[in-house]
Amino acid sequence: MEYVIETQDLTKVFGNFTAVDKLNIKIKQGEIFGFLGPNGAGKSTAIKMLTGILEPTAGGGKILGYDLRTDSERIKENIGYMSQKFSLYSDLTVLENLKFYAGIYNIPYKLRKKRIEELLSLAQLEGKEGLLVSHLSSGWKQRLALGCAIMARPSLLFLDEPTSGVSPTIRRLFFNIIQELSQAGTTILVTTHFMDEAERCHKIAFLKGGKLLADDTPARLKSQVLDGILVEVESPGINNIKKIEDLAYVKECTIHGALLHIVLANKGYISSLENDTGLKPVEITPSLEDVFLALSKGREEER
Ligand code: ADP
Ligand code: MG
Repeated sequence: MEYVIETQDLTKVFGNFTAVDKLNIKIKQGEIFGFLGPNGAGKSTAIKMLTGILEPTAGGGKILGYDLRTDSERIKENIGYMSQKFSLYSDLTVLENLKFYAGIYNIPYKLRKKRIEELLSLAQLEGKEGLLVSHLSSGWKQRLALGCAIMARPSLLFLDEPTSGVSPTIRRLFFNIIQELSQAGTTILVTTHFMDEAERCHKIAFLKGGKLLADDTPARLKSQVLDGILVEVESPGINNIKKIEDLAYVKECTIHGALLHIVLANKGYISSLENDTGLKPVEITPSLEDVFLALSKGREEER
């Protein structure tokens, strides 16, 4: 089995609305594969098909070697899934939740204590065993939900926006855990809206309107997406931005906080820009945000 996940034209139609449109992805063992895209892009719907929860309208695929259409029960038994609205029992304690899920996943009694200790340590929840879930902060709840999702040590894990509503520090910690799992061989498909998290994925798929617009490593996406070079200048104020946009050799111009990112056809135009504006352009490597801005924009113009 070369790929842990492999789909062919996977499609979901609700009524006359196509939520996922001919999705083709391949994911290798141990990869952290990021799903990015605006709300409504079809990320959760795609995940529900990949986990065997939702039947595809057309197309298909293999998950861990099992056919999506005929073997969905096998798939459900062999994966971990943390949905966007994960369910913990808020009137139970941390330990009671873990014990409950150990039961759900049929972890042999002999192994339960050890497994729960491992998960408490991995999720950095030691000392919190006796706390009611309703008393936990969102970051702790999220790590407990992850602990429950990987109770049975699945080799394939789906995490749907696991870090929304969590502080940046806790998000980083959570991604450290994801990386640890990946290094141990677990394949992880994770949806996120955060560029720092996208940077930490081995590969990224960008979805919009149900369509896959890009699928590559963060580095390759950054090197390929721009048709030209990217420079940065301190933002010269809104009126001057308009003038810069109107320069014939400026292909693109986007505001990033106090900075302006400008796409030029080639390096030769850096000095033209400097002469025409009096600004000091510095060539920079595109960020993933630049990539996704360009991708979204480019595709809209093509329509
Ligand atoms: P994302 O997770 O990227 O935000 P979703 O997969 O949740 O996107 O949704 C994609 C689109 O499909 C949305 O427009 C959503 O309203 C629609 N959709 C999702 N589930 C259903 C459903 N069960 N019935 C009808 N439309 C749905
Ligand atoms: Mg979603």
